[in-house]
Amino acid sequence: MKKILSMIAILLAVAGFLYSAVHIFGTGIKYFEYSGLKSNVKKLTEEKTKKTTELAALTKKNADVKAEYEKLRAEKKIKTVYLTFDDGPSEHTDQILEILKKNNIKATFFVIGIGKNYKDYKKIIDHGHVLGLHTYSHEYKEVYANEASFFKDLYKIRDAVKSTTGLDVKITRFPGGSSNAKASKALKTAIINRMTKEGYVYFDWNCDSTDASGNNVPVAKLVKYGICTTHPDINVLMHDTNAKKTTVQALQQIIDGYRKAGYTFETLDVNSPRIQHVKQPEM
Ligand SMILES: [Zn+2]
Repeated sequence: MKKILSMIAILLAVAGFLYSAVHIFGTGIKYFEYSGLKSNVKKLTEEKTKKTTELAALTKKNADVKAEYEKLRAEKKIKTVYLTFDDGPSEHTDQILEILKKNNIKATFFVIGIGKNYKDYKKIIDHGHVLGLHTYSHEYKEVYANEASFFKDLYKIRDAVKSTTGLDVKITRFPGGSSNAKASKALKTAIINRMTKEGYVYFDWNCDSTDASGNNVPVAKLVKYGICTTHPDINVLMHDTNAKKTTVQALQQIIDGYRKAGYTFETLDVNSPRIQHVKQPEM
């Protein structure tokens, strides 16, 4: 009996010892895991603080550079060119987009709607360019029949662009420009006043590549007239239509000409310099 009791006592002692050992070992592991995690958290927190500081510095630098750029632009020390392509999209749009991409520059496309694949509007946007409204039909008889007719046509292209891009475009170009002789002065004034009231800004051009003067205008002529360096803000008129093959062929030389003359390339927005043949009242 005594032997059995002492055996039980020994067994209990061994079990107790084993239990304590396992417990201590487990706690030890947990401790190491904990301190490991703690140092990871500390490291990540330090990294986060460092990155936040770096980001703040970069954001400030970016804002400074932007402010300096805008200041220089306001002082006309930076020369800006706005390349514009009217009447597209066309079978040449892809080539134009390719050339612009190769040069890492952006342009503005004043698009129409009749006979067009609406998906092409999205393609132009996806390449980082800007769309302007050039009326849906571009038919002088229709758009300049009366004020209601003009806006019906304008809203039609606005809706077509919106349906594929989601954008509510506010920049426009009159078919034939704001100085066109197809609409009466009274009609143009009425259109301009309503456009202004509805937040639209229209843009003409101060540099005509002359590609509208006929089809296949020689490249040399397009290059000669398409590069204007007389003003710090230049808006170049070009066309993106199936018939204007030579515009595509002249584009690289036109880009090179502006680069050489120290111009930077920008896209139009409602705040861009108002290069307008007939002035728009202040909004
Ligand atoms: Zn046009």
